[in-house]
Amino acid sequence: MEHTIELAGATIDTRNFINGERVATGDLFANHSPIDGSFLGDIHQAGENEVNAAVEAARAAFPAWAALGPVKRGELLHKLADLVEANIETLAMIETMDNGSLLRSHIRGVMPRVAMNIRFFADWAINKLHHPAFETRGHSNNISWDPSGVVALITPWNAPLMLATWKIGPALAAGDTVVLKPAEWTPLSASFFADLTVQAGIPAGVFNVVNGLGKVTGMPLVSHPGISRISFTGSVPTAKVIARAAADNLTPLSFELGGKSPMIVLGDADLDLAATLAVEQYDNAGQVCLSGTRVLVHHTVADAFAEKFREKVAALKQGDPRDLETDIGPQIHPVHFQRISGFVDRAKAEGIEVVWGGEPNAELGGLFFKPTLFKNPPVGSEIVTSEIFGPVLTMQTFDTDEELIAMANGTEFGLAACLVSGNREHADAVTSQLVAGTIWVNCFFVRDLSAPFGGSRKSGIGREGGTWSFDFYADVKNTVVSPNGWKE
Ligand code: NAD
Repeated sequence: MEHTIELAGATIDTRNFINGERVATGDLFANHSPIDGSFLGDIHQAGENEVNAAVEAARAAFPAWAALGPVKRGELLHKLADLVEANIETLAMIETMDNGSLLRSHIRGVMPRVAMNIRFFADWAINKLHHPAFETRGHSNNISWDPSGVVALITPWNAPLMLATWKIGPALAAGDTVVLKPAEWTPLSASFFADLTVQAGIPAGVFNVVNGLGKVTGMPLVSHPGISRISFTGSVPTAKVIARAAADNLTPLSFELGGKSPMIVLGDADLDLAATLAVEQYDNAGQVCLSGTRVLVHHTVADAFAEKFREKVAALKQGDPRDLETDIGPQIHPVHFQRISGFVDRAKAEGIEVVWGGEPNAELGGLFFKPTLFKNPPVGSEIVTSEIFGPVLTMQTFDTDEELIAMANGTEFGLAACLVSGNREHADAVTSQLVAGTIWVNCFFVRDLSAPFGGSRKSGIGREGGTWSFDFYADVKNTVVSPNGWKE
């Protein structure tokens, strides 16, 4: 039975990674590249037995890893980050082949960020994770962040290793041990990363990877009573299933979920900047949770803005994501492609005006969908309320700020917002009324790992970043010490 894939000059093991060893199963599922549909290899799916073995291995490894302390753990995590940096080009090509996102972004931005995610949280645990002791009637309150146990990490396919390391970094730095279940459409980078943990000297059982479908592999993991935390990034429907499973064990949850964020252009905005930021909403072929998919533009500047936006979209190059000149690659999977097409076809059938795109890229074929803009969709239409997770934006105009706020906040989500304005007071007046975990003013996608990141409403539960991450992964403890009773 095959259990390796040769890709990007590297050998990737397609078996599970449990207790530092590779574990084959008879249950295989095929992995294809979204670029051209080519078969990459068969992945060994973990069932309940393998998941239980992974949790047991992580439980056995936990006491020693927790006792190691943040400084020693930090040394190992920095070695791991060094190895990620030494393998940036390989990791970049693996991810591009597996999920179709741009090789250019992976080399220049994403994979260096993966290394930084690990370093940042290792250092934060050493240098920044403290709260000054304080007195209560002569008693001192001493706050600590204690390792909590085995954490289950469940991740999506749109930025596989990047999103996984936002979780792996703080969890390992906090002294927890990890069982990661990557998305079934993009298992390869996590497997290669597992080999790097071995090279870094991270002890067996501290980091484990189980592969498979949500129902087969994810469910036994999130239902396991031996798990101390579940951190999940994915869709709202899956989050509901996981929350129900976690309820039996009262396992604490962190959820980073979907969005339908507004991209707001005020009447006083710099329209060139607005158009530059608007075109970024098509990044990663629109498969970005934070994407501002609802463009809300003041009616006085709508035509001028739309013209500038059109010019920038026309200049986008769609094609093979391995080509460093490409701006938009394919969608991830035929099932997802069909889902996007379904939204677009229903909107067209409703009579909603297509400004550009609105169809697959017939020239390229396969999973390439043209960047699309719909105009003036009616209130409540699914194209403005549902997360599509593809290169599909809508544009609506507004008159008053009151009308804008109602539109901007008018979905069940609250993940992000992007606002373009030339007037600070005006911008402040609007941002103070928006419901969103992150708001970017005259910029997009600027993310400092020490800042809180997460969503309001159905976009999530909790925040990641800096101490917020450790508040989740660790058991926060207050030890109250009396001035009395000491013998010395
Ligand atoms: P998804 O919910 O379908 O799957 C996410 C992960 O959950 C996968 O690993 C999947 O196998 C697993 N899963 C599915 N069913 C499960 C179950 N019953 N038990 C345990 N695990 C299960 O999401 P997706 O399609 O992979 O990703 C796209 C979604 O992720 C979008 O909604 C997007 O907005 C969201 N997302 C959010 C953020 C954020 O930071 N807020 C970032 C990226 C993606």
